[in-house]
Amino acid sequence: MCPQTVTKLRNYVNGQWVASSSDETEIVYNPATDEAMAEVPLSNKEDVEKAVSAANEAFKTWHKTPVPKRARILFNYQQLILENYDELAEIITKENGKSRADANSEVQRGLENVEFAAGAPTLMMGSVLPDISADIESSMYRYPIGVVGGITPFNFPMMVPCWMYPLAIACGNTFVLKPSERTPLLAQRLVELFTEAGLPDGVLNIVHGAHDVVNGLLEHDDVMAISFVGSQPVAEYIYKTAAANGKRVQALAGAKNHSIVLGDCNLEKAVTGILGSAFGSAGERCMATSVVAVTDDIADAFVDQLTDAANQITIGNGLDPDVFLGPVIRQSHLDRVRSYIETGVEENATLVRDGRADVNESEAGYFLGATIFDHVNPKMSIWKDEIFGPVLSIVRVKDLDEAIELTNQSEFANGAVIYTDSGKAVHQFRETIEAGMLGVNVNVPAPMAFFPFSGWKKSFYGDLHANGKDGVEFYTRKKMVTARWN
Ligand code: NAD
Repeated sequence: MCPQTVTKLRNYVNGQWVASSSDETEIVYNPATDEAMAEVPLSNKEDVEKAVSAANEAFKTWHKTPVPKRARILFNYQQLILENYDELAEIITKENGKSRADANSEVQRGLENVEFAAGAPTLMMGSVLPDISADIESSMYRYPIGVVGGITPFNFPMMVPCWMYPLAIACGNTFVLKPSERTPLLAQRLVELFTEAGLPDGVLNIVHGAHDVVNGLLEHDDVMAISFVGSQPVAEYIYKTAAANGKRVQALAGAKNHSIVLGDCNLEKAVTGILGSAFGSAGERCMATSVVAVTDDIADAFVDQLTDAANQITIGNGLDPDVFLGPVIRQSHLDRVRSYIETGVEENATLVRDGRADVNESEAGYFLGATIFDHVNPKMSIWKDEIFGPVLSIVRVKDLDEAIELTNQSEFANGAVIYTDSGKAVHQFRETIEAGMLGVNVNVPAPMAFFPFSGWKKSFYGDLHANGKDGVEFYTRKKMVTARWN
């Protein structure tokens, strides 16, 4: 039973906050304090129906709204996000647990997506070739596709929704967003600000909930496309189901990101980079480094320096500006991450640093310190599985060839990073590594809004990635006109 003082969230449909018709709810916890922050409805298909119907109705006028006018609303929105930057970041820290620095970066990343979408007049342009034959011209016109459904994960309550609805809406579509039921609060504020920026009713709707809402969107005839970001099994399910129901789909999935550290790198910078990538946001980033392949010549020095650096990490509530490592999202997730530490020990990896010792389990919050395993190999589940917590595996390799060969065995392929000063090594890495987002001496090589977020293998299902020109292609369809002018 939820305390009376906790607000029960409402869905946002056609510009109104409306109660879900479902009685089922889930508590939204602050992961740093274990306190209930809100009650989120687990909406049903009736709620989905209302939202899709509102979005469908709004599409009739929104897609005809001149593109520069749509863009102006995006510019207003950008301004409002800037004015409310701190409040947005604070909500992220409270509902997700990440540090204020990480939350600020997330607001910045979301903002950049809004800025990219504000370029809609250029992005929506068609093209023409006047002389495909004598007196014959061919031209391409770009149009929105209709109602789009967006389903998002807990780990980026702002950035990931902003990969979707600003661009979809700028392109003339209308949108139904189902935020993560574990971090649903920020979406409320984001839609309020968009409305304040001048967005007409029904263009952006929110339906809170879990799989019933997802299935409602997947099955609805009036939903033309699905943008999904989340774990691999769900992404695969979304991709198959949406495609079977005749929808466009992009499904960004789980990850296991590898970094390669070579003997000629700047070791200090590599250590700092990997520390931030593996343990920042409590390891709950889809681009977090979770395996490092380090060459034997510097492996001992690397492990020593990384462990020393991990010993300096401040753990606690992300609202404290000195905190680097906040909690993971839920107690059940903490239990899962801790069980991977036990598995790593059973698999005979060397537990160099045990983050369980950093926390007092009797205190509130779902905390775990930075955990480092050495002498890991690809047969171990700590090497294979996405753990999604502050647990790092180190593999010792003799050279770059071996590091690349091992990395390419992973079934996931979101990001991969190399730390080196050698141009030759970078070239070999770029040409032979099987991953979609590469970093060279850059710890989290997440592309900016104007480039695609281009995971490979089981880290992505679909053809057109989120963001950049891929995003524009995904949210638009084309008419080709072949005309004879006689
Ligand atoms: P999740 O898959 O549990 O949930 C994602 C969304 O899917 C949520 O909105 C949830 O309600 C819904 N969902 C969950 N189970 C479902 C089911 N059985 N049927 C229908 N819908 C369901 O993911 P999460 O734990 O919220 O987020 C973390 C995951 O997201 C990690 O695996 C991470 O790597 C991944 N992620 C990937 C990217 C990327 O760009 N590839 C970015 C961010 C997060």
